[in-house]
Amino acid sequence: MRTQFLYEKKLKGVANSVQRKQEQYRKIVHHLYYNGAASIAEIVKTVKISQPLVASLVDDLIGYEMLLDNGIGESIGGRRPNLFCINPEYQYVIGVDINLHTLNLAVFDLSNKQIHREEIKYFDLENSETYLNVLIEKIEVMISGLKIPREKFLAVGISLPGLVDAKNGLSHTHLSIAPGGLVAFIEKSLGIVAMLDNDARIMALGEKAFGKAIDKDNVLCLNLSNGIGLGMILNGELHRGKNGYAGEFGHILIDPKGKLCNCGKIGCLETLTSGKVLVDNVKKAIENGQPTILAQYQKVGKKIDLRTIVEAIQAGDQFAIDQLNQMCEYLGKGLVTLIHLLNPEMVIIGGKLAHAGKYVIDPVTMSINKYAMNRIGSETELLCSDLLDDSALMGTMANVMKRFLSF
Ligand SMILES: [Zn+2]
Repeated sequence: MRTQFLYEKKLKGVANSVQRKQEQYRKIVHHLYYNGAASIAEIVKTVKISQPLVASLVDDLIGYEMLLDNGIGESIGGRRPNLFCINPEYQYVIGVDINLHTLNLAVFDLSNKQIHREEIKYFDLENSETYLNVLIEKIEVMISGLKIPREKFLAVGISLPGLVDAKNGLSHTHLSIAPGGLVAFIEKSLGIVAMLDNDARIMALGEKAFGKAIDKDNVLCLNLSNGIGLGMILNGELHRGKNGYAGEFGHILIDPKGKLCNCGKIGCLETLTSGKVLVDNVKKAIENGQPTILAQYQKVGKKIDLRTIVEAIQAGDQFAIDQLNQMCEYLGKGLVTLIHLLNPEMVIIGGKLAHAGKYVIDPVTMSINKYAMNRIGSETELLCSDLLDDSALMGTMANVMKRFLSF
């Protein structure tokens, strides 16, 4: 499907001139989306189109209702200029964050505000027709509940784990049975443009647009949940690699004599340090009579998962903290290789384990201090995401707008 704003569907004339107009409009929309309300003079400075033409293009966009006249701004000497901004309610973006056990849905307006957000728990990701049908049904129920006409939805941004070919809209690990590929299936089912990428890369886009990586050019974003994902911002841009599979950090070899990984190889980083390993180890230890708050949680019927483990860690449970420390030692070791290769200015830890805050940061820092060359390691800032559970959803919004506003 074509990526078009509503007003672009109304443009008429010869193909060449429509395309030129479209580019000029998008330059203005691009400026206002990324910089907020601005005067004609400010827009002229960045878009490099003459003042009278910008004024006329802005007039057109107000006529289409894409822009709003925001009233009078601050004076910088002389008459106070009129400010223009994007009409937040002109169109909306649907964010779909697919996880192994939960599904998060959101609707954003064009000012990046979430006007709707829901979390569907215990919705296990499986490569089945049933999953796909329920997914579409949940989105349909959300759309009809919001009473927003379908044509007002600009796009659906999707984030999911595993190998994803963003360019061709294909997911190879999960939901690969979708007829024609996942993007084609969603577009056909909903009648809305869809865009897809791997969760760690989407989270990196979210951090770059709205989180701690704003204004940073070389940042590694880890998704520490059941597995380990990696999104890389290199020289200011998301790095996807040739086929879009870059960032399979969880599958680098750490222990040649280690355990079998779900990818078929032996001793991948993920077999030593991932949320899944943490949960498995905790469960095994409880069975063997390990004293821990988590054993009490289990007795009162609480499920042992990353959420409850983080809860125990924050309650000061010594055993849970020890388990996390061990995991972070391996993680730090793996990270040092990346830091030595890429010299990032910042490493952001996101995903479910980011909720553990200093309990993750401190042991990973210790491990980096131990294994990294001092000059490189000490200049890399390590911190937890503050977007937390919203980072993938925010990333789907960032991904959609980036794609729409590239020209
Ligand atoms: Zn592996």
